[in-house]
Amino acid sequence: MSLRFEAIRNLSNEPNEAHGGTSKITAIFGENVFTLNTARQYLSDEAYKSLLTSTKGGKRIDRSVANQISNGLRAWAESKGVTHFTHWFQPLTGTTAEKHDSFFTIKSDGTPIEEFDGAALIQQEPDASSFPSGGLRATFEARGYTAWDPSSPAFVMEIGQGKTLCIPTIFVSYTGESLDYKAPLLKALESLNKAAVDVCNYFDKNVTKVTATLGWEQEYFVIDEALANARPDLVQCGRTVFGAAPAKGQQLEDHYFGSIPERVYAFMRDYEAESYKLGIPLRTRHNEVAPAQFECAPIFEEVSVAVDHNALLMDIMDRVARRHKLRVLMHEKPFAGINGSGKHNNWSMATDTGVNLLAPGKTPKTNLMFLTFFVNTIKAVHDYSDLVRASIASAGNDHRLGANEAPPAIISVFVGQYLSKVLDEIESRVNNKFDEQDEAILKLDIHRSIPELMLDNTDRNRTSPFAFTGNKFEFRAVGSAANCSNAMTVLNSIMAETLKNFKKDVDALIEKGDKKEVAIMQVIQKSIVDSKKVLFEGDGYSDEWHHEAERRGLPNVRTTPLALDAMVTKKAKHLFESNHVYTHSELEARHEIELEKYIKKVQIEARIMGDLAINHILPTAIGYQNELLENINGLKTAGLPEGSYKSQLAILKEVSEHIQVIYEKVNAMVEARKIVNNMTDTRTKAIAYCSQVKEVFFDEIRYHVDKLEHLVNDDNWTLPKYREILFLR
Ligand code: ADP
Ligand code: MG
Repeated sequence: MSLRFEAIRNLSNEPNEAHGGTSKITAIFGENVFTLNTARQYLSDEAYKSLLTSTKGGKRIDRSVANQISNGLRAWAESKGVTHFTHWFQPLTGTTAEKHDSFFTIKSDGTPIEEFDGAALIQQEPDASSFPSGGLRATFEARGYTAWDPSSPAFVMEIGQGKTLCIPTIFVSYTGESLDYKAPLLKALESLNKAAVDVCNYFDKNVTKVTATLGWEQEYFVIDEALANARPDLVQCGRTVFGAAPAKGQQLEDHYFGSIPERVYAFMRDYEAESYKLGIPLRTRHNEVAPAQFECAPIFEEVSVAVDHNALLMDIMDRVARRHKLRVLMHEKPFAGINGSGKHNNWSMATDTGVNLLAPGKTPKTNLMFLTFFVNTIKAVHDYSDLVRASIASAGNDHRLGANEAPPAIISVFVGQYLSKVLDEIESRVNNKFDEQDEAILKLDIHRSIPELMLDNTDRNRTSPFAFTGNKFEFRAVGSAANCSNAMTVLNSIMAETLKNFKKDVDALIEKGDKKEVAIMQVIQKSIVDSKKVLFEGDGYSDEWHHEAERRGLPNVRTTPLALDAMVTKKAKHLFESNHVYTHSELEARHEIELEKYIKKVQIEARIMGDLAINHILPTAIGYQNELLENINGLKTAGLPEGSYKSQLAILKEVSEHIQVIYEKVNAMVEARKIVNNMTDTRTKAIAYCSQVKEVFFDEIRYHVDKLEHLVNDDNWTLPKYREILFLR
């Protein structure tokens, strides 16, 4: 029996019991995290103070204190049964990385002891050669090291019976270039902090720190493990390269917010319980639009913590799903014709005085502060829309962007009717120079009507890649499998840069004698005029928008290799360098890594496609051909007239035609790949993989395979079908 039928037969035996989710969330929340409260219990005054300052201000911890902290960490971890520790980091492969070492060691006299010294806490040298570096290590120095990042708390990861102390770290080369997602993100956040505090001080001198906040919404598919295992494409690429549309897909829209299937519910409760222990504040869970698709979202947190938590969660979900004999698919487009998955990034900024800078205020003055940050965000996205696009580019996300289910590849900003009106009103005064009497605009009275309007109006436009939703922007074009860092590094860097320029312009006007508020209003006006073309309130999925966007001169880059060009423009280099986020060589390296990632993804998909076509699809189809032939010959021999096997002949003809095309195209694709593989320039090669391999062959081969799926005897078809993968659990 084929794996397909075995999987289907065994489905009803799968358990759906949850182990977690029985206690109150507050009872377990953060129990596996070395929070500041826990630190207080395990550390001396001196060590605690030192940890506290480095948590907040990024101050270096000296060796003697580091020893105290590492001892405290070990004592805490051992009280939980931990035997090993690891430096935990987020390399550019897109998953998290860890290498476990035990506390156990042997002293020079042979006595075995448990030990975790400060040096091991602060720095480690993982074998870095197999992580992507974009040539950085080759040109500089072969080694890389992980360095403790005290701004993220240490935590204990439970894997089955094993428990490991995880130290969040950044990963850098010996010459200091960053090799991970985290290091540049922290730098971008620091740059934003400085720029935003400066601007806040126009309004409130008490603000000394601004943190960016992130609340991600993670979409994913959950399917049966045995069915997934019977699909080599799912196992190897995380998406199906073939599969005919099921009779019932998502057209009835009966899955969205429907009741959660029991087996999935048990899985959710378990991964939630694990997440709570690690301090991930998950809040919502529900079904998504597509069958077998779900979403979860936490309460928002500081960006760096939220990014860690998302990376951790993806890892936890994968492991917990396996315990439930399920598979989580994080891929942006696992099934053709069925909605893909995204990861909305809700983003805002908050001051240490407790103000959300993107929440409309209650007084004209706080409203001016809101307007300042609101308009600067729009300007940032306008000025750097190519970088924003590049920050979400991946082979997986290419399937989704612009596919009438997800925001288009055109970056635009939605602000809602009411704020559009406010912006128009400010803009219409652009020709009247502001004078002191003209402060009426400050009394625009935004505060009175905004709160209610926001709630009803702003979340309506689901087709915008970047939408204002009342007290935050929602960056919706991020892919479900992505590490949020890329998007967040870009967003916070461009915001920092835009705020710096804003301050420069305002200061110049003040110097010329303008009153502060008036100067601010004038620069806001100018920013609105300058960035107006990025604002779009209509249907982002429509053809009209594509034409309109073209008329406005907004870029619409549909494929990753080209979208990535934005990373290495002069403008990008200047932006990242002046904000101390990436050096030129780091940017070049990242560009190279992203291109390579793209090439490899498409290459693997092409291979899987070829393999499946040749050794699953064709043998099955040829077998069916034989059955038909035998039948026809039998009928002929029995002396029946041609009319009695006309249909069989027609099917035979169709099957044979598809077989020929598939075989031809797969071979042609192999030849095309050989040519592309010989290309030496990475960018050229990535573009060629897209235009000469993917675009020429993928849909074509798939079309014929999916036709065969409809024609060939169901009993012989080896790959689980969409109707089974998506609806059986
Ligand atoms: P919904 O969009 O379903 O109405 P919310 O608007 O409350 O729900 O939140 C959606 C996501 O936005 C959640 O993950 C939430 O934590 C996040 N979020 C809310 N406020 C902020 C903020 N100020 N900064 C960042 N994320 C936020
Ligand atoms: Mg949302």
